[in-house]
Amino acid sequence: ADSRAARAARLESLGQLASGVAHDFNNLLAIILNCVEFIAEDTGTEVADDLARIRNAAHQAQELTSQLLLFAKREPTHVEIVDLNTVVTDATDLLSRAIGAGITLRCHTCSKALPVYANRSRLDQILLNLVINARDAMPGGGFVAIATSVVELSEDPAQSLPAGRYAQLTVSDNGTGMSAEVKDRLFEPFFTTKPADQGTGLGLATVYGIVGDAGGAITVDSTLGAGTTFRILLPLSPFVRPEPAPDHRTSSIAAG
Ligand code: ADP
Repeated sequence: ADSRAARAARLESLGQLASGVAHDFNNLLAIILNCVEFIAEDTGTEVADDLARIRNAAHQAQELTSQLLLFAKREPTHVEIVDLNTVVTDATDLLSRAIGAGITLRCHTCSKALPVYANRSRLDQILLNLVINARDAMPGGGFVAIATSVVELSEDPAQSLPAGRYAQLTVSDNGTGMSAEVKDRLFEPFFTTKPADQGTGLGLATVYGIVGDAGGAITVDSTLGAGTTFRILLPLSPFVRPEPAPDHRTSSIAAG
């Protein structure tokens, strides 16, 4: 089996390769789309359907390359202390719209504050990716449950994270589940079991990268025919928002 470090190095080099290809590919797509627009202006309706098809395919390819670039981006993003519960609550509307009809979304946030040091939109991206995967695993409908809690990890050399307090986020579904082979590969970039126009295989690789960057870890529990639970741990920030400092100047003026 792969060592964790070897796997990380392979993901890193794949990421670099991917972003190089995506960048050049994007430029070519822009040329294709420009030409389509010119042709559409100059010709009659007899080729309109074909042009629409070309345009749709090119837009789909652009969507793919932008996901690639997002995945491969290693530049530092703006991080701040955010409350994971607030992130989940604020995302609920968007997530239920992404899920569509036939699937019920349940969110259970714990009563404690969960300050984590992270980029907010990347946390949104994690939720969206996991929820869309859950939806795709339930063609006949079902339930998606999002839950948060606090967990305390004790010293354990077998675990990938240091001892301490963590915010836990779980996303569970009662969908198809996955085989051991899929479970083994699902964080690999470009690994997908979906048809080419539905899956890029970059969703979970992106999630994996975001969680790792935030000093956390992601694990998966899955049973074929029963469902899947993704579990993410993010270090609880020891920092709290600073209390507004007492305004010494005002009080000294008042005193004087
Ligand atoms: P994509 O969604 O584009 O296929 P991902 O990296 O998000 O790429 O997922 C990789 C694969 O992992 C999926 O194609 C699917 O086989 C499997 N998978 C991910 N989430 C689930 C889930 N909740 N239930 C079953 N299989 C899943």
